[in-house]
Amino acid sequence: MRYFIGNWKMFGVPKSINILRKINSFCSKDKNRKKYRVIITPPYTLIETYSKYFQNKRIAIGSQNCYQKDQFSSNTAAVSPFMIKNVGAKFTLVGHSDNRAEGDTDKMLKDKVSYALKNNLKVVFCIGENKLEKKRKKTFAVLKNQLKKVLDKKFNQNNIIVAYEPIWSIGTGKIPSSVELKKTIIHIKKQLKKIFRKKKTLPVLYGGSVDGNNVKMFKEIREIDGFLIGGASKSSKKFIDIIKNYYR
Ligand code: PEP
Repeated sequence: MRYFIGNWKMFGVPKSINILRKINSFCSKDKNRKKYRVIITPPYTLIETYSKYFQNKRIAIGSQNCYQKDQFSSNTAAVSPFMIKNVGAKFTLVGHSDNRAEGDTDKMLKDKVSYALKNNLKVVFCIGENKLEKKRKKTFAVLKNQLKKVLDKKFNQNNIIVAYEPIWSIGTGKIPSSVELKKTIIHIKKQLKKIFRKKKTLPVLYGGSVDGNNVKMFKEIREIDGFLIGGASKSSKKFIDIIKNYYR
């Protein structure tokens, strides 16, 4: 199974649903549709209406983040996994580099994953090194640490997907070389096997400037189980092109 996950970030109003209707209509007719899942994470404001609309359709709706508490609390503007689940989300991203940059610590991320899973949300856990860490050849150590500090053997690995997103690649048009990326994905899968002490590994996605052209290079790396797509997920044509070219 492959995953194409679109992260809308701070984008979208109710009528932006038209973008997703086009993607959904492509996916409903696509001969490869059984080979992949499409998940879109709009902002909190749109989760309920979009989830209702796409119930029993080809797109699952997720959240971009969640607060590190279970149900209700006195944290102004916070939205808990319980609340997200109750408006129809099936997934949540946790640990996106935007949110790490705004102060999400490993401890907070661990609580987010834990409460999200408790509320039956599947978690897409994001990791990735920055430019300096890459330059200093610290990538493998950074990723190992990010995984170890947050993921726990007690978590149900069937409900977790890992997304590798090098920070220097997000929104920049820069992508890792295919040799480098293959090694990194294999490294991540090895770490995940160690953490969960299971033979079967979790799906590992790549994210960072994925588009309809470079996806042809990524598809050669069989270890990549799918993609987390930012910019290109705001256009139905660009998002559909990624799927089309992946299976071409
Ligand atoms: C992202 O923000 O998760 C992302 C991958 O963005 P982009 O595809 O625009 O690089």
